[in-house]
Amino acid sequence: MTATLYDATRATLAEVMAGEPAYRVEQVWSGLYKQFQEVGQITTISAALREKLATALPTSLALVRESVSDKGDTVKFLWRLVDGNHPIETVLMHYADRVTVCVSTQAGCAMACGFCATGQAGFNRQLTTGEIVEQVVRAARHAKQRQQRVANIVFMGMGEPLANEPAVWAAIERLHDDIGISARHLTVSTVGIIPGIRTLATRPLPVNLAVSMHAARDDLRDDLVPINKRYPIKDLMDACRDYLRVKNRRISFEWALIAGVNDTARDANELAKLALSLKPTAHVNIIPLNPTPGFPTRGTDAAGVRRFADRLRDRGVNATVRRNRGTDIDAACGQLAAGQPVVLTARRNV
Ligand code: SAH
Repeated sequence: MTATLYDATRATLAEVMAGEPAYRVEQVWSGLYKQFQEVGQITTISAALREKLATALPTSLALVRESVSDKGDTVKFLWRLVDGNHPIETVLMHYADRVTVCVSTQAGCAMACGFCATGQAGFNRQLTTGEIVEQVVRAARHAKQRQQRVANIVFMGMGEPLANEPAVWAAIERLHDDIGISARHLTVSTVGIIPGIRTLATRPLPVNLAVSMHAARDDLRDDLVPINKRYPIKDLMDACRDYLRVKNRRISFEWALIAGVNDTARDANELAKLALSLKPTAHVNIIPLNPTPGFPTRGTDAAGVRRFADRLRDRGVNATVRRNRGTDIDAACGQLAAGQPVVLTARRNV
């Protein structure tokens, strides 16, 4: 495999910098992961060495477009992978008290959830660890210009993180060990890949697990989340219980509310039952469905969202309604479909 900058370990850097004292490697490492500098900006080393590093270890992401919405609080980066040209996206969200980066883990996605723009577009290839880490570094560099530090990472961009678990795990270690983001501020979101959940449970850090549930009975979930046919709800819940036992971190369920499909009293009751069957009870994140070109059904209206959330709360389940960020720049949940014709975006927004 060709070495890229953010795939490189300290040992790789040391090889490229052969002949230099060991502390030089640390200077570069700190420039990359503490200061979020480009190699060319790391002036603790000589210009010749910067040149040598930049040539031997190129970066992986070429910026195609940066789109801004919510008065600058949501920034979507559209990149092209230097290797192979596939488009991927990263979203940076500034909140009053924190900055969150939503990263992609695959170019495209093979899970084919009908309501998700990435699922509609299909799968290109896995991302490498460096391609995942570089998204965070470049977003952090952007945040730094506003004197803000990235505090949370959510693996909720394009792709299914647990279908690329080894690369995702290595990225988590880099973010935790080198950038210094604590495990409780790292969240892996999965469609419900049971072997991936089980592997994650064996990993040393207690990262948060979010499960994209969307339906609490198999016939409906088979429709919305096709992988449910392979990993049905009962088995998925067993894997969640085992993850909880080992990690002792509350699990959250994501629920995209789709009008007339999964927003009825029956759905809320079934979901509450599932959530309450975990100890501690799962937290529910309600996401009113965001529009995508390939899915005709709409999101539940505001009153319906409130009713659904209240019904869960009445049954003792904590539920948060996630605010839609960046809908106008197609940066909202499930809207990441880089490369989709611009005309579709324009038409949806008029
Ligand atoms: N593959 C992972 C991460 C993907 S996206 C997973 O499935 O969890 C993160 C969340 O956005 C998932 O819960 C996903 O189901 C949800 N999502 C996808 N499309 C959406 C849409 N159009 N509106 C709202 N949420 C959506």
